[in-house]
Amino acid sequence: MLVLNRRTSASLLRRSAASVQSALSSFQPEHDAAVGYDGVAAGIDFRPGFFGTCANADCHSGWLHLWRSRSVPVFEGGWTCSPECTAARLRGAVSRELDGRGAMAREGHRHRIPLGLLMLEQGWITQIQLRRALVAQRAAGSGRLGEWLVQQHAVDETKVTRALGVQWSCPVIPLEGADAGSLTTAMPRLFVDAFSALPVRLAAGKMLYLGFAESLDPVLAHAVGRMTGLRVECGVVRSSLFRPAHTTMLNAKFPSVELIEATSATAAAHSLARSVERSHPIASRLVRVHDCLWLRMWLRPQHGPLPETQSVEDVVCSIVPL
Ligand SMILES: [Zn+2]
Repeated sequence: MLVLNRRTSASLLRRSAASVQSALSSFQPEHDAAVGYDGVAAGIDFRPGFFGTCANADCHSGWLHLWRSRSVPVFEGGWTCSPECTAARLRGAVSRELDGRGAMAREGHRHRIPLGLLMLEQGWITQIQLRRALVAQRAAGSGRLGEWLVQQHAVDETKVTRALGVQWSCPVIPLEGADAGSLTTAMPRLFVDAFSALPVRLAAGKMLYLGFAESLDPVLAHAVGRMTGLRVECGVVRSSLFRPAHTTMLNAKFPSVELIEATSATAAAHSLARSVERSHPIASRLVRVHDCLWLRMWLRPQHGPLPETQSVEDVVCSIVPL
């Protein structure tokens, strides 16, 4: 008599559950779409339902998980049946991000024309004005060249901002009509503060303008784009306008954030999986931002280009080896 061993029967049952799910897929959404605006804005229910298959490729629970009553958590488009399977999925995602797959670890070196030289070439300042500003900057040992040029009345701040835009090949972003308070779910407060970034406005519900006063941070912009599904355009903001707007933003209400320090990638994955198991998100995703890992968890469906403050939780994890 043919006896199926447990593994074989489990795998068959899993395959049969998968085939039922595939039959249903014509009218069930892909879970990945749930995170993005288009999917959730359409009011999609992205619970995997009774026939959901555990997203952990090495799941050993087999058909048993069909009887488990959980439909969350969902991480990167896949439901996991147990804390062990969630941990396995997070280990994979942490390793992907730390290897630089998917993440933009750092921008390659790009030569940029020095600001003073650029302004000289544009005919905005004279050699004497440039030399005087450089001498003052060197003597003081602080301050940016643009600030010294403005202080010495060689040029006004608008020109310095324009020059920064040319230097970075990016637009100058005006702050008129900016509503920082409505953009606090674009990224954790920690990033706004640490990377001196200012989410300025959303255009057509698809493009997020991210302002900087001095130098751009394409790594942060790339990570925010991956997390939110928005196209992120960087630009420079006039320095005197940037500072008060930045302070206002830092005082606005952000989603709750948990800060984690881990001593290894394994420990980071373990802590992040614990957060996912604790919050039971209906969607979650991990991206790397410089040396941090940013986990975002959606607790409720998102109905706009950005989630509401109360509907998401962030976890920022840094790995500090002992
Ligand atoms: Zn599983």
